[in-house]
Amino acid sequence: MKPAPFAYHKARTLKEAVALLAKYKDDARLLAGGQSLIATLNMRLSAPELLIDINGIKGLDGIARKGKFVEIGALARHAQVERSDLVAKHAPLIARAMPHIGHPAIRNRGTFGGSVAFADPAAELPACVLALGGEIAIAGPRGKRTVKADAFFKGLFETALRPQEMVTAVRVPAADKNSRTGFAELARRHGDYAIVGLAASARADGKGLKDVRLAYFGVGDTPVRVKKSEAALARGDVDGAVAALDLDPDDDVQASAAVKKHLAGVLLRRVAAQLMEAA
Ligand SMILES: Cc1cc2nc3c(=O)[nH]c(=O)nc-3n(C[C@H](O)[C@H](O)[C@H](O)COP(=O)(O)OP(=O)(O)OC[C@H]3O[C@@H](n4cnc5c(N)ncnc54)[C@H](O)[C@@H]3O)c2cc1C
Repeated sequence: MKPAPFAYHKARTLKEAVALLAKYKDDARLLAGGQSLIATLNMRLSAPELLIDINGIKGLDGIARKGKFVEIGALARHAQVERSDLVAKHAPLIARAMPHIGHPAIRNRGTFGGSVAFADPAAELPACVLALGGEIAIAGPRGKRTVKADAFFKGLFETALRPQEMVTAVRVPAADKNSRTGFAELARRHGDYAIVGLAASARADGKGLKDVRLAYFGVGDTPVRVKKSEAALARGDVDGAVAALDLDPDDDVQASAAVKKHLAGVLLRRVAAQLMEAA
């Protein structure tokens, strides 16, 4: 299928993009890597009047250490993040997840900000940002604001972003020697969206773990934290963490809810082992 007709504007500055968003609101869409948007246009799931291309806005594709955070610009391509030494060292969970996102052609175009803003519940990056307790930097006509990942993912493809706002960057706490991360997903073929996936972070605490954060993807409308399992894992009780999983996935074309729940337990054991490896 072909998309419905739309107007196209290439924004050169953040101010220009935000002004157009404020003017058109729900009738405009930002075009970043286009890897999700173009498909939704072609399938006519979305028919905006205007596409605002943000690829020409300078300064939105940086990856930098900023104090206690690693900041990844909204326009940083997945491939750029995947190859970043800084991400490998200071945000290893994201480095672990990157090779699971689609295929190289998709990672060459898709952007970090696009993935987080699109908020596909089966996507890796929203779950990683949630597991790390990150935050999303947003620009709008009234200026800038920051939203914690815990409050950002609101529903199916729904976030705390207002129609006239855009994501400018994502910040995650920089890893130190006590940081532990774990990542696992099950997909039918490598590069497919996961049937079930799990991103996790924790801090080493003697021989145990504390501040455990487990974020599942593919099992709900948003990335989902499982707080009872987090508490059990912090007590070193892996069986208890699996037993405490309170996920409520739907059946879908990939797997039944019962299979997904079973797989969630399998992944939890794998990820728990990763978290405890050097703890
Ligand atoms: C075949 C295929 C397989 C894929 N497999 C995976 C996978 O396994 N895992 C995965 O996570 N993803 C996968 N993707 C999606 C890919 O990661 C996309 O790149 C990503 O979801 C969206 O990023 P984008 O830059 O392409 O955004 P776009 O497609 O340009 O935009 C997506 C949406 O986000 C909005 N948007 C974009 N940037 C911003 C911003 N800065 N602020 C506010 N709103 C914004 C757009 O308006 C649009 O509504 C796949 C895509 C394809 C085509």
